Amino acid sequence: MSTSIIGFPRIGEDRELKHATEKYWKHEIDQAELLRIADELKAKNWNKEDAKLDLVSAGDFSFFDNVLDAASLLNITPARYRDLGLNELDEYFAEARGYQKDGKSVKALPMKKWFNTNYHYIVPEIDDKTNIKVVGKRFFEDVKKACEHHEHVKASIVGPYTLLKLARYVGKKQAADFAPAVIAAYQDIFKRLNETHLDWLQLDEPALVFDLTDADKKLFHQLYDGILQAPHNFKVNIQTYFGDVRDIYQDLIDLPFDGIGLDFLEGKQTADLVRKFGFPKDKTLFAGVVNGKNIWRNEYQKTVDLLKSLPVDDNLVITTSCSLLHVPYTVENETDLDKDLKQHLAFAYQKLDELHDLDQIFFHDNQALLAENQALFENVNHPANPAVADRISGLTAADYTRLPERSERENIQKAEFKLPDLPTTTIGSFPQTKDVRKNRSLYKHHKISKAEYDKFNNDKIKRIIEWQEKAGFDVLVHGEYERNDMVEYFGENLDGFAFTKKAWVQSYGSRAVKPPIIWGDVSRKNSITVAASTYAQSLTDKPVKGMLTGPVTIFNWSFPREDISAKDSVTQIALAIQDEVLDLEKHGIKIIQIDEAALREKLPLRQSDWFKEYLDWAIPAFKLVHSKVEPTTQIHTHMCYSEFNDIIPAIDNMDADVISFEASRSDLSIIDKLKANNFETEVGPGVYDIHSPRVPSQAEIYNVINNILAKLPESKVWINPDCGLKTRGEAESFASLENLIAAVNQKRAELG
Ligand code: GLN
Ligand code: ZN
Repeated sequence: MSTSIIGFPRIGEDRELKHATEKYWKHEIDQAELLRIADELKAKNWNKEDAKLDLVSAGDFSFFDNVLDAASLLNITPARYRDLGLNELDEYFAEARGYQKDGKSVKALPMKKWFNTNYHYIVPEIDDKTNIKVVGKRFFEDVKKACEHHEHVKASIVGPYTLLKLARYVGKKQAADFAPAVIAAYQDIFKRLNETHLDWLQLDEPALVFDLTDADKKLFHQLYDGILQAPHNFKVNIQTYFGDVRDIYQDLIDLPFDGIGLDFLEGKQTADLVRKFGFPKDKTLFAGVVNGKNIWRNEYQKTVDLLKSLPVDDNLVITTSCSLLHVPYTVENETDLDKDLKQHLAFAYQKLDELHDLDQIFFHDNQALLAENQALFENVNHPANPAVADRISGLTAADYTRLPERSERENIQKAEFKLPDLPTTTIGSFPQTKDVRKNRSLYKHHKISKAEYDKFNNDKIKRIIEWQEKAGFDVLVHGEYERNDMVEYFGENLDGFAFTKKAWVQSYGSRAVKPPIIWGDVSRKNSITVAASTYAQSLTDKPVKGMLTGPVTIFNWSFPREDISAKDSVTQIALAIQDEVLDLEKHGIKIIQIDEAALREKLPLRQSDWFKEYLDWAIPAFKLVHSKVEPTTQIHTHMCYSEFNDIIPAIDNMDADVISFEASRSDLSIIDKLKANNFETEVGPGVYDIHSPRVPSQAEIYNVINNILAKLPESKVWINPDCGLKTRGEAESFASLENLIAAVNQKRAELG
């Protein structure tokens, strides 16, 4: 055995799975048809893998999410879904998406970001009555089918430790209380797999790359000491990724695993651990050396040098650093990309080729392949912009410091804007109704002129400004009708970005995103938002918020270049956005929101890395964007999720004047934390959940406002929904916003 992957994308080269599941949800196709399409996609993946690799991967397919798959397989299904009396697949979709039919209504399980990626998993819910045991069939059917058609098969499933660590416990019992049942269930999985001719079982344990406590290690040992006793006629690989296993490496090599999978790319200490503590001859090292997250070609010489430096012989499988789920399918579909750039790209299919090449080079000494690859790296032409480099080298501490201090600015701005108590605003986008999308599509396909396109959007702006004025909002927005995806929109207006046609990556369930590629030095081509914002401002005496996406979010939702540091890339983007901020200010826009929706996403998994690896440059990049504005210009920022509990001081250090964030689904404990940290930025904790079509009543919002004001002084509080409205319909949004204003007015009247 010499080559393998951890997992493959499943959404489909043309997003076939997305289209089929969405049709199934709308009852346009039946379950048999959905299963048939899924089987086709699996078979296609397996054939692709079989052509290039030694092992074919089964079990990595999912109709929605692999964590939910494992939970369903093991009967971790809350009673409220079970009670719906649905078949296996429909029950699974009810957990993933919620269920509403015939008077029955159950909300979906929560979704969370998968480690440091933009993929979201469904959080399993365990209560005291959860009876963990094998009940699902799909996993075994997939393995059986792969074994029928392919000689060497590896099956993968989320491992017991990661499953228990990621689950949410809603009763009294905690993870360790479920260890005996989980051990028995995985032993049962082993027993059932003994009936196939499986070569390897891969247990995915990425949770081992976090900082581990003694209790974590104890749980891990308890689980595997038990599970590995089960007889099995296949080999067992414990697979880790997204980091290194410094807290548990020695335990891993001592336990009776047949294989250990390690990430040599994101795992900064992986190679050192293996060299320092050695690697047992009777185990196989699954060496993750082909990047499962980036889209760039592998530099074979570097990879081969790394592999040669490891104390292993032929007990080695060359593999990816993580599942290929996080990259698009194939570069071949990108017919419009610049040749220079295209030759450096490797998506999932190309990464299979690379594994094949590496096998030829490492095990069979194929020098020609090595030479061909080296030539590719001899001169890489990232489009350079010397003006950008000059600007960066000229930056000093003053460029990162806004003056005067925030407390002084707060007074200046209160005098400037004279807003009422509890000022009201929205997060930026209004519903992207069908006609808005149609207008964009007509323009994109050259069916209407730029003037016609703009006229349509301007009419929309006018209508929504009037609506907000009439509804009684204090700080208005233009509605973002001109934007499809916020990062794509800015990328298209910046030099240095490249765009793909079909490079979709699954974000959650049936949703896929198409991240732009950062290829050259980034700078602003032209003013981006000034026309829409100034037009909106010309229609009203109330302040209209300018609306920008921040540098860290643009970076985190793109495929970054790797020849320069993340810090340098983000600084380039920050300067481009700074130009836009100053341009807006020059044109009379007095409040500017710079969204950092994705700031939390790339926070390193280990706390010891938080600052030096990330926050130490991410926070200054944001400050660079707004440091030069006048004291009277008010800077807002917005973050999705309020999971920044642990980094509150860093968020305050962004030195914005106002921050809005998602809070309506949480228990408002974030507000206690803000208080405890003496948070200075004015805050708009979202008062209702925009992710649901449900309209909150005035009384409900009034209660939320009271809960907030019980903890924070009213001089610091803004009232807003918890995110943009672009994915919602107009009727429900307008009704919700009217209730929001009514609730605020009720509170203001009380305050006098
Ligand atoms: N301003 C953006 C909007 O309202 C923010 C979106 C986001 O946070 N993801 O849509
Ligand atoms: Zn948001």
